[in-house]
Amino acid sequence: MARRGKHFIMRDPFGRDITYLRVSVTDRCDFRCVYCMAEDMTFLPKAEILSLEEMERLCAAFIGLGVKKLRITGGEPLVRRDVMRLFEALGRRLGDGLDELTLTTNGSQLARFAEPLRAAGVRRVNVSLDTLDPAIFTAITRWGRIEKTLDGIFAAKAAGLAVKINTVALKGVNEHEIDALVAWCGEHGFDLTLIETMPLGEIAGDRTEQYLPLSLVRARLRERWTLAATDYRTGGPARYYSVAETGRRIGFITPMTHNFCESCNRVRLTCTGTLFMCLGQEDAADLRAVLRAEIGDEALRKAILAAIARKPKGHDFIIDRRHQRPALARHMSVTGG
Ligand code: SAM
Ligand code: SF4
Repeated sequence: MARRGKHFIMRDPFGRDITYLRVSVTDRCDFRCVYCMAEDMTFLPKAEILSLEEMERLCAAFIGLGVKKLRITGGEPLVRRDVMRLFEALGRRLGDGLDELTLTTNGSQLARFAEPLRAAGVRRVNVSLDTLDPAIFTAITRWGRIEKTLDGIFAAKAAGLAVKINTVALKGVNEHEIDALVAWCGEHGFDLTLIETMPLGEIAGDRTEQYLPLSLVRARLRERWTLAATDYRTGGPARYYSVAETGRRIGFITPMTHNFCESCNRVRLTCTGTLFMCLGQEDAADLRAVLRAEIGDEALRKAILAAIARKPKGHDFIIDRRHQRPALARHMSVTGG
């Protein structure tokens, strides 16, 4: 651990500074996206979930240890009751250690929350949208209606939030629409990130059937769009290109390859206070136990530092094709996207 000004920096054993924390505030969701959840999900009992105050305390500890960027996610973060209280509390730390407060959402509740989020200090939002077709949208999300998500996206834009669209590329489902999504994002001034499906958690279908390699998508896009590689990085798994015709950026997240682990600056906190040092590994630290033992902030700091000292070099995703099992049992909605 090193000190920069009045703030600390956490450095892991591979020399990576850990400055980015993703926080899942709930495992629940108003959608049941086919690649993310089974339709009959069992959710965690309330007693296991951290209160908003506990989440704030944990985030404050991370900010004190050098985290500069917080992304609130889920499940669907905006279905957590009173979640604005957490955004407001964390927003007050912007400029005092914290540089950015943001969220990833399915957009269904965003029309209501866009203005308050902006008032709390949020400036950018990632909204998941896999298709522009209402019927395909409902087929993918099982329970969702595209109108609500589109209303949310345009409310965010109207509130002055920069919008980035996240699209999971799904073989035979939305692969024919990627072109249209690039054009639509260009038209409305949104960046776009394409994501490969990851083998996380049991779902109803077959993962290998959904998997669409982004190398193929990128090659197809190049037939219509002029893509130029950029050196824009967020410390995350996305490789960004600029689209000459739209002036927007397009990112490709290919988690099944190892090309991003060496610059990984992030860790993930679940809604039960479990800290995962790598999205693709099982090792985790139970920070809720430390928090609820009420042994003080120093114990919490020590537990966080001990966990960071165990951050692995890289992930280990493989789809167990023979047994049709996911590489990791937990769902993306548990660790957050
Ligand atoms: N509910 C919010 C949403 O959908 O944006 C936030 C949580 S969601 C788990 C975060 C992101 O993870 C979404 O963009 C979603 O599409 C993506 N995601 C979920 N399961 C995935 C999987 N198995 N592989 C790749 N991306 C996944
Ligand atoms: Fe819900 Fe997001 Fe998972 Fe879809 S991807 S089921 S919206 S948590």
